[in-house]
Amino acid sequence: MSLSEPKPGAHLELLKSLSSAVPKGLKVERERRIFVNRNLRMDEIDLIGFDMDYTLALYNQKNLEGLSIKCTLDKLIKQRGYPEDILKLKYDPLFAVRGLVVDRKHGNIFKMDRYGHVGRVFHGKRPLGKEERHLLYRTERIRLSLPRYAWIDTLFALPEAVMYAAIIDFLEARGDKIHYSQLWQDIRDSIDEAHRDESMKRIIKANLSDYITRDPELAPTLHKFRSSGRRLFLLTNSAWDYTEAVMHYLLDGSLPTYTTWRSYFDIIIVSGAKPGFFTERKPFIEVDPATGASRGSLEEGAQFVRNRVYQGGNIQDFETAAGAGKDRVLYIGDHIYGDMLRAKKSSVWRTAMILQELELEIRQYERFKDRLNRLESLERQLLRDESDVSYQQLLLKEVQKLEGGGHDADLVEAAKREAKHRLDDLRASLKAVAEEMEAIEGEVDSAFNPYWGAIFREGAENSRFGQQVDDYACVYTSRVSNFLSYSPLRYFRSPRDHMPHELV
Ligand SMILES: [Mg+2]
Repeated sequence: MSLSEPKPGAHLELLKSLSSAVPKGLKVERERRIFVNRNLRMDEIDLIGFDMDYTLALYNQKNLEGLSIKCTLDKLIKQRGYPEDILKLKYDPLFAVRGLVVDRKHGNIFKMDRYGHVGRVFHGKRPLGKEERHLLYRTERIRLSLPRYAWIDTLFALPEAVMYAAIIDFLEARGDKIHYSQLWQDIRDSIDEAHRDESMKRIIKANLSDYITRDPELAPTLHKFRSSGRRLFLLTNSAWDYTEAVMHYLLDGSLPTYTTWRSYFDIIIVSGAKPGFFTERKPFIEVDPATGASRGSLEEGAQFVRNRVYQGGNIQDFETAAGAGKDRVLYIGDHIYGDMLRAKKSSVWRTAMILQELELEIRQYERFKDRLNRLESLERQLLRDESDVSYQQLLLKEVQKLEGGGHDADLVEAAKREAKHRLDDLRASLKAVAEEMEAIEGEVDSAFNPYWGAIFREGAENSRFGQQVDDYACVYTSRVSNFLSYSPLRYFRSPRDHMPHELV
């Protein structure tokens, strides 16, 4: 044995001494985890794309909503003749969550479950009772594609619902006759104008730290992807000047090896016009980063050049110019329709959805773990009690058939009393269970959101929004930097799904 040769078994000692330095298993805080709907093998991904707003750039929702409301009210008063008193109303940001539907015909806002059943409904901020709800929304199938309905599916759109409800309450309290559909249109047009005429963006650009949260783990996350050989691209609907300001704020100066934010990305596309990007054939136009002026369109068959900026475009030309595509692309975005659904329906791109609300929802699930477990056991008891009630009812009927049939009348009478007695007991228990369930549901719901409950649930089902996340996002998580805790080669596996009959 030479001197340099280690003792037999020394390698085991070495491993043992190192084991305390390496944590066993991946322990990522629950609220920062990546959740998997469909298996995703990161080693099979070549290109990773990012949306900007609400994906790379996490907005301070409270400040941004305040600004949207201010700009919109300003336009409603000055350009559409609404009374100045609407400035004094209380606009409660909790009143809107993603996934709500506005019924422009009746001035109502509601939340649906995954089967399209309407759950909670508010008119202004008044909840509708069961009868009113049934009459309006349970007599025929709701067709959300009708212009009567508007779907609140982005965080940008939440203030619209908040204003709609508050202004309806205000105008109705004054005794005004409201054209609900027109009010909705006025709010929509005013907010669109505020976006278009740059009145909002100018203020955001001048005060970025008030509106956007800088995530110190974002740059290391992008760097980790790049170090593992992935190419990264930015595909945003925002225009070049706004993109440049926001991305500069988010990334410049974070890591010394990257001179500007643009060095993190191999391809930069602004004014992407999603969802049209996935369905139309607009050309790519090169943009001069210094002036924002057009440098002409990308020639057919040409490849994207690093450090250049493109605008517009479409998915087919993208895959040619990027030299990669199909299911080797992972696109990370926050918009269920423009980023997830369209990408999934028009291509085989893999998708990751960023849901800023997830962290708060998960904290509430943890907080109410015991109550939720109790709810489940009550649900099981409810099923048992219900089946016992039907059994006792049948039994009672059988006893009643014996009456006057030549049996001992006292005996039959005693059996009847006993069966009735049991039935009463069971009904009382059933009522108590139902009441306790209702109380727990109310308590848990109002902790999530006093008006709407959990975003991803409606009653005992997934909400329509929750179901769409399930249908169109391969994985979902609360922020892009959550990927930092995972290997860039990770095989994200979905939990095995069961149909009801498979559960034993
Ligand atoms: Mg976005």
